[in-house]
Amino acid sequence: GDAAALLSVRKLGASYGHIDAIFDIDIEVGQGQIVTVIGPNGAGKTTTLSAIMGVLPARGQVLLDGRDLAGTSIEEHVMHGMALVPETRALFSSMSVQDNLELGAFRFRHGPRQEREAALEEVYALFPRLKERSRQEAGTLSGGERQMLAVGRALMGKPRLLMLDEPSLGLAPLIVRDIFRIIAALRERGVSILLIEQNARAALNVADHAYVLELGRVIMQGPARELAHDPRVIEAYLGSA
Ligand code: ATP
Repeated sequence: GDAAALLSVRKLGASYGHIDAIFDIDIEVGQGQIVTVIGPNGAGKTTTLSAIMGVLPARGQVLLDGRDLAGTSIEEHVMHGMALVPETRALFSSMSVQDNLELGAFRFRHGPRQEREAALEEVYALFPRLKERSRQEAGTLSGGERQMLAVGRALMGKPRLLMLDEPSLGLAPLIVRDIFRIIAALRERGVSILLIEQNARAALNVADHAYVLELGRVIMQGPARELAHDPRVIEAYLGSA
């Protein structure tokens, strides 16, 4: 592995009751990289992110900049710079766009107000649509706007590692293109990203490195560009197009 990896997950395992869902997963995310995990329904992609974030108890190691966060609270993970945008997006529907965003700066609640205001301006610069709708109730946003809000809220915590669970799920093709453009723009800003996707083609296009998960195990990994040309990946995940 790469000694300079920002995230280094080693022999990660997690279970639901007595049922093991993921086994011995090794994943690395280098500083400034986009890494994707692709795989079919039920392969354990969401479970992997939950275990990395501390939402589920994890076996193995979750090293962020060399510090093992496995077994610590979600808050501890957040304080050390991890953020997770869940598939559900988990917004507060009856709160305004801006109030949702401000919740994302929880990590800096004791810091200077200017810092939170600057973070808000940065998010609004990235998502002008959210700025236009800052007072609108989150529950009335379109699907694409909600995904932008969920990502914006995560960015308010200035994460070093942003984890995205199926950001393109349920969105129209044009919006999906926007979302992937934003993911690429975030990398330009130095955010490292771990991206879970069923849209394997779009994920492999944007990512530097990729892992294929099946039945709770990593069965293949490599540079995203190479996996995109691997006949087994094409056959199983990229279809005929
Ligand atoms: P999808 O793309 O459908 O969300 P996934 O790759 O994210 O799939 P997971 O949601 O991580 O897969 O599920 C991995 C396995 O764990 C599946 O067999 C699933 O049924 C099981 N599982 C997930 N959540 C729970 C839960 N809360 N309780 C019990 N089993 C669960």
